[in-house]
Amino acid sequence: MALCEYEISPWKKDFPILNSTFINKNPLVYLDSAASAQKPEYVLNTCRKNYETEYANVHRGIHHLSEEETANFEAARIKVQNFIKAKSPKEIIFTRGATESLNLAANTLGKKILKEGDEVIISLMEHHANIVPWQLLQDEKNITIKVIPVNDDGSLDYDAFVNLLSPKTKLVAVTHMSNVLGTINPVKEITAKAHEAGAIVLLDGSQSVTHFPIDVTDIGCDFFAFSGHKLYAPTGIGVLYGREEVLEDLPPWQGGGDMIKSVTMEKSVWADIPARFEAGTPSIVQAIGLGAAIDYLNSIGMENIHAFEQNVFNFMYDEVKKIPGVRILGNAPHKGGLVSMVMENAHPQDISMILNQMGIAVRVGHHCAQPITERMGVTSSCRASLGLYNGRKDVEALVAGLWKVKEML
Ligand code: PLP
Repeated sequence: MALCEYEISPWKKDFPILNSTFINKNPLVYLDSAASAQKPEYVLNTCRKNYETEYANVHRGIHHLSEEETANFEAARIKVQNFIKAKSPKEIIFTRGATESLNLAANTLGKKILKEGDEVIISLMEHHANIVPWQLLQDEKNITIKVIPVNDDGSLDYDAFVNLLSPKTKLVAVTHMSNVLGTINPVKEITAKAHEAGAIVLLDGSQSVTHFPIDVTDIGCDFFAFSGHKLYAPTGIGVLYGREEVLEDLPPWQGGGDMIKSVTMEKSVWADIPARFEAGTPSIVQAIGLGAAIDYLNSIGMENIHAFEQNVFNFMYDEVKKIPGVRILGNAPHKGGLVSMVMENAHPQDISMILNQMGIAVRVGHHCAQPITERMGVTSSCRASLGLYNGRKDVEALVAGLWKVKEML
C-alpha cells in the first residue's frame, strides 16, 4: 500500500481559489486539473500588473510600451524553449491551445507532406484533438489513418505499432500521456522507431507537460503540442514546438498581419519562423502569463513536482482500488496524474453530482476521448485528476465521498 507523506500540498497556499472557495460550506477539493489547472497568485499578479502598467500590442510598434511588451512576449517564448529544452526560440510557436497546435500541424505539415495513399499512425488513446484534424485531412487527401491498439491494462500495444510502420507511414502522431487512463507512453522509443521508418513524429504533450520534466531534444520528436491552461497559465495560450529544420520548409496556415515579410496585391512573402505561423495579434498577456507559470514551476522544480505528485497518485490509486465495485480504467505500469473510474450500480454522472455536493470537483463523461473510453468497455467514467496543489487530505475526501456514493446508490 502506498503511503502519502503529504497531508496538504506545500504549494496549495499559492492558489487563491483553493483557499477561499466553499461549496455547500465544504472547502473546495479540486480534482479536475487534467481538464484545466487553477492559477497561482504569481501568475494572476503578473497578468494584472502587465495589463495595468506594461500592456500594448507587440511587434508592430516603436513606442516605449510596445517595445517593452514585445520584449516580455519574446522572453516568454525563451522560457518555454528552456522549459521543454528546445534548441532555439524559433522552434516555439504560440497558439491558442493544444487543439489549435494540432490543427496547425495538420494544416501545415500534414498538407505539405501527405499525398494520396500515405499513412498516418495515431493511437486509440488519443484525445479528439489528435484524431479529428487527421480525419479532416483524410477526407481531403485520400490518406489512410492507422490506429495503434491499446492492451487491456491500458498500455499501448508497442509491437502492434512497430508492425503498422511501413514505407507509406509519413507521420506518427501520439499522445505522451493519456487523459483518460493516465498511461505514459514510451515516446522516445516510439520516436526512434518511427524515424527509422522515415516518418515525422508529433507528440501531444497536453497531459505530460504538467506532471514531469520534458526534454524534446532528448526525446527527438519533431513536434510537441500543449496548452497553457493545464500548466497553471491563463486560457487562450498554447504551444506547438517544431524542430527548426522541419518548420523552415512548411507553409503558413492562417494569413494576416505579422506572418509576412511583404504584401503586394499580387503576392505575399512569408515571414521567417516562428512568426510565419502566428498570424494576427497573439494572446499577448496569456503568453506572458505562461512565462510566469513556468517561472513558478521552475522555482519548485519539475522533478520535485513529479516526485510529490507520484506519491499522492499512488495513494489515490490504491485507496480508490480498495472500494468494492469500483473499477479503475487502465493499470499500465507507467501511469500517473489521474484515476478514471466506474462504479457498479452508479452512473458516473450521479457519482460526480454527489461528490459536488461535498465540494469535490471531478470530471465525468468520455473526456473528449470516446474511442479509448469505449475500448475500456464503458461510455463514460468519473475522473479525478491531480495538480501540484493536491495532498493526502484531498484524496481522503474523494475516497470518503466515493464510500458515501456507494452507500447511497
Ligand atoms: N490533448 C489532450 C491529451 C488533452 O487532455 C486535451 C485537453 O483535455 C487536449 C489535447 C486539448 O486541449 P485544449 O482543449 O486545451 O486545446
